[in-house]
Amino acid sequence: MYLYSFCEGGFVSTEQQSIYYGTPVVDGIAYAPVIWTRRPSVPALSAVDLPEYERAAAIERFEKAADEVVARLEERASKATGHAAALLQINASMAGDPAWRKNIKKQVTRGIPPVQATMAVTEQFVSNFERLGGIMAQRTIDLRDVRDRVIARLEGRPEPGVPQPDHPVVLFADDLSPADMAGLDPSKFLALVTELGGPTSHTSIIARQKGIPCIVAARRLSKIEEGTYALVDGRAGTVHVGITQEDAQSLLDEDKRRRQLIEQWEGPGRLKDGTPVALLANVRDGLTATEAASVGAEGIGLLRTELCFLESISEPSVEAQQAVYEPAFEAFPGSKVVIRTLDAGSDKPVPYATLQEEANPALGVRGLRTSGHNPDLLIHQLDAIAAAAKSLGREETHVMAPMVSTLPEAKWFAGLVRERGMIPGIMIEVPSAALLAEQFMEHVDFVSIGTNDLTQYTMAADRLSPDLAEYSDPWQPATLNLIAHVARAGIKTNTPVGVCGEAAADPLLAVVLVGMGVTSLSVSPASLKAVGAQLSQFTMEQAKAAADAVLGAWDQGDARYRVRQALGINHQLDA
Ligand code: PEP
Ligand code: MG
Repeated sequence: MYLYSFCEGGFVSTEQQSIYYGTPVVDGIAYAPVIWTRRPSVPALSAVDLPEYERAAAIERFEKAADEVVARLEERASKATGHAAALLQINASMAGDPAWRKNIKKQVTRGIPPVQATMAVTEQFVSNFERLGGIMAQRTIDLRDVRDRVIARLEGRPEPGVPQPDHPVVLFADDLSPADMAGLDPSKFLALVTELGGPTSHTSIIARQKGIPCIVAARRLSKIEEGTYALVDGRAGTVHVGITQEDAQSLLDEDKRRRQLIEQWEGPGRLKDGTPVALLANVRDGLTATEAASVGAEGIGLLRTELCFLESISEPSVEAQQAVYEPAFEAFPGSKVVIRTLDAGSDKPVPYATLQEEANPALGVRGLRTSGHNPDLLIHQLDAIAAAAKSLGREETHVMAPMVSTLPEAKWFAGLVRERGMIPGIMIEVPSAALLAEQFMEHVDFVSIGTNDLTQYTMAADRLSPDLAEYSDPWQPATLNLIAHVARAGIKTNTPVGVCGEAAADPLLAVVLVGMGVTSLSVSPASLKAVGAQLSQFTMEQAKAAADAVLGAWDQGDARYRVRQALGINHQLDA
């Protein structure tokens, strides 16, 4: 029997082995010795002033160091591809940023040595970025990376970077900058595990692009010493240390079999016992809808309409909007299509719909709330959707609202949708709607759980913050209990409950959601086959057992552990 002796803060230890938990980002398993890389610690500020006659030369040295960093990053950008190239270019422009440089030179002119001036000014910029939050907060790792490179050059040291091993390794790091990530060779670096970072951080984005199994926000990792053999499971978000070579090999074989299964899977979505589970797609336009249809999606579960209008300064006419929606309908004639009305605001500002200045935009005028200021926006959008559906002769069109938090909002929205002959639903992504799910279901015909925001608002953790990834994990027991509560309400009131947040794209969690009573899952086209293949492996009885097992979990790592136990996954480790 597996000895489940200690589980606290992302760490489980037994006599035989230790398991460390993080946030899984890129699927895949690797077994190799660990190599560590850490950001250098920043030298302490010295109080010594530069004599006046040295200041001009110090400014020149700083300019030269910064120019060299720009040139080196630009050179690497020119050799990289895709997202890595774009990010290296962004870092290069940060090192060239006139405001940053001007502030540093100003400090040096006052007598602050260039290393200290670079540190102090960078920290000022970092705190400004953090105050702005969201995407800007994620740029702080890039800024600090630029800082460390410039300081290394000023001190005559080589620029910091990832060591180049001569054999395959799994790379552990406190955090990795895009510049670190860009040069990683997937045949040498078999997996990445970082203590910081989030699923939307650069580490994650580039790891996905390179197809390197990856886990972020793995706490207590520093207990694992360089050279130790570790098994990194990027699907489960676990790092196993102390596992035998034989067990590791059987897990690698199992992973290979699983991948074959995914390749071979063809829809429709159903459990092993034949129970249907509608597998729908999250799309942004006609093009992605067509892609979704080609990989076996049974319909659209979420069309994020705000993504069609991120560049629009003024409100597009009803006819222009209609022309945007029609291609998405055309990709799925006769199948379910759920259109979500504008979720403008917060991390998706739509120029014509979003308020400019808000202290806390994620808690502000976002989603359906934008209609409070300008109800015509919603009316025009619903008219456009109805016109698109009518022009293609559709019998049924589902329309749902984002960020619904009160019953009157839901009732008002449902009335507007019904008046236009369409089927109204709401997203459940605010805890108030989850808690009162049963009452909300009296007013709408379906609900779809947005687990990205439901987790953000339940855990009070900015979903974009790289430092809060473990809170932003939909496996958090509080989020799972809320989802189960909504699913129970759906069963009681006979209301279809879908999930369209990222949780639905996690194959293991997908089984749990279905076990709770969720009837459809909507995922990005890239995740569809993996979810479908996983569902086909388990019966409803097993899915229900997994759903029951997860509700009493202690933390997100324990939740994953319980489900794997309930489903008998990775039983080799438990023997
Ligand atoms: C969600 O919040 O889970 C969701 C699907 O909406 P979005 O990610 O677009 O906010
Ligand atoms: Mg949302």
